[in-house]
Amino acid sequence: MVKIMPAIRCPYCGGDFWLDPKIAGADVACPHCKGRMIVEKTGTGEFFVERTHPNYYEDVEECEKLLTEVEKESIREAALCIGAGAYTAAEFMVCRALESIARRITGKDNFKEAIDALDGIEKYVLDYFRHVRNKLAHPEKISTKEDAESTYYMGIRLMKEILKKQSES
Ligand SMILES: [Zn+2]
Repeated sequence: MVKIMPAIRCPYCGGDFWLDPKIAGADVACPHCKGRMIVEKTGTGEFFVERTHPNYYEDVEECEKLLTEVEKESIREAALCIGAGAYTAAEFMVCRALESIARRITGKDNFKEAIDALDGIEKYVLDYFRHVRNKLAHPEKISTKEDAESTYYMGIRLMKEILKKQSES
């Protein structure tokens, strides 16, 4: 019997990889970008791929060139955490990325000083995220899926605003 190994196209990075048909239906990770997905086999023998977390490539595409490697990695990990149900960790990684951007563009050593050095609506939204980060640092706090998704999407929108403004000035 000949086993046909189907080529799966990763819905995150677009890279192809081979999947053992025995593990179809399972939660698998792309060997290129580690993005996670559920691969299902249909009745007609086709493979159907479903994403299990936000697509960080798509989400940061507009501002990718303005992010450092560590900031990109923080956002990537936040997206993976959402798929894994690690919602507190997901929120924390988004706050870390925002803190890094704020400190980097202002040249300040801590989040509070960096926020104080900024102005406009971004200043207030960033301060909200600083409060989120402080709450997360307390061991009593566990985030829900809604908390994590809202922090992830709001955080990325804010990053784009700040970086866009920064690159125009
Ligand atoms: Zn991939």
